[in-house]
Amino acid sequence: MKISNLGEFGLIEEVIAPEFKELIRKNTTGIGDDCSIMPVSKKVSHIFTTDMLIEKTHFLRDKITPYQLGFKSLAVNLSDIAAMGGSATASYLSIGLPENIEVDWMEEFIKGFKTLSKEENVPLMGGDTTSCEDKIIVNVGVTGEIKNENIKLRSAAKEGDLVCLTGKVGDSAGGLQILLNDLKTNDSGLKLLEQHLSPYPHMSEGKWLSDFESVHAMIDVSDGISSDLGHICKASGVQCSVEIENVPISGELKKLTEEQNWNPYELALSGGEDYVLLLTIDKENFKSISEDFRKKFDKTLYAIGSVQKGKPGIIYTHKGKKIEGLKKGYTHF
Ligand code: ADP
Ligand code: MG
Repeated sequence: MKISNLGEFGLIEEVIAPEFKELIRKNTTGIGDDCSIMPVSKKVSHIFTTDMLIEKTHFLRDKITPYQLGFKSLAVNLSDIAAMGGSATASYLSIGLPENIEVDWMEEFIKGFKTLSKEENVPLMGGDTTSCEDKIIVNVGVTGEIKNENIKLRSAAKEGDLVCLTGKVGDSAGGLQILLNDLKTNDSGLKLLEQHLSPYPHMSEGKWLSDFESVHAMIDVSDGISSDLGHICKASGVQCSVEIENVPISGELKKLTEEQNWNPYELALSGGEDYVLLLTIDKENFKSISEDFRKKFDKTLYAIGSVQKGKPGIIYTHKGKKIEGLKKGYTHF
């Protein structure tokens, strides 16, 4: 059987994870959440995450500047730290480069990486540098820490919770489509491109939300709501319903999809790379948390659906009617 028959998550769940079940230590969280968790005391845990960006799979060398690639390589990893509710402490950068890459290119990459490192106060503490025949390969690891009582697992969603988002979705997918279709960009197109090429991870939002006991499960949206909310459903053994009309999309995405005759919700639900946080909150506490969220961040905390009993999975509705046939989130292979 080819790995394409198993898919990315089949490969992780059936081939990789089962082999290590017995070795993973008690009271730690291994494969399956945004970060691994190692308790260091009754109060605090270390968390770690790693993510890879490969040329032609995750980016096109002539469609992203090295500065943007450096920024994004760290951003996608910090986003996983945010998804646990933690703080990042250090980063590690391993990079494979074809030998004809200019030193200028690497200087710009590091400038982009440094900009976000400085902004979030996360020093680069190590890594590896190698040659690679024909592709740029970037792998970043980030360590972090978190108070044990604040850890937000994918498996913690509870029946009766509301499903919420810390930002709009679909802009990044819109930006990617602009690049892939070589569309002319106007001001609104530039905003979509910016969202795709330089997403800012929701670190402050994740950390702030993690202080609330009534915030239950949390994940970052890297593969699209369809895929990422699916992970929460599976890990928590719950069903979620999502009201499409409540999924927040930007005016810029609406404009692009109208011009191109595309379905904005397909991009918003399955496009991915939004790097906003998707979380579930006890219904009773949503009003006060969302009001405080607005005061703190001057942004909306969007409620897009709810958690219920049932076969794990997502049910999409539009004005109360069930809708089917939506594209699934991104997976490799
Ligand atoms: P994320 O999108 O948050 O980075 P993924 O969906 O990529 O997470 O991965 C799901 C889980 O599987 C994570 O806990 C990740 O650490 C783990 N994982 C993915 N690939 C591997 C691998 N090759 N070996 C071990 N664990 C892996
Ligand atoms: Mg993640």
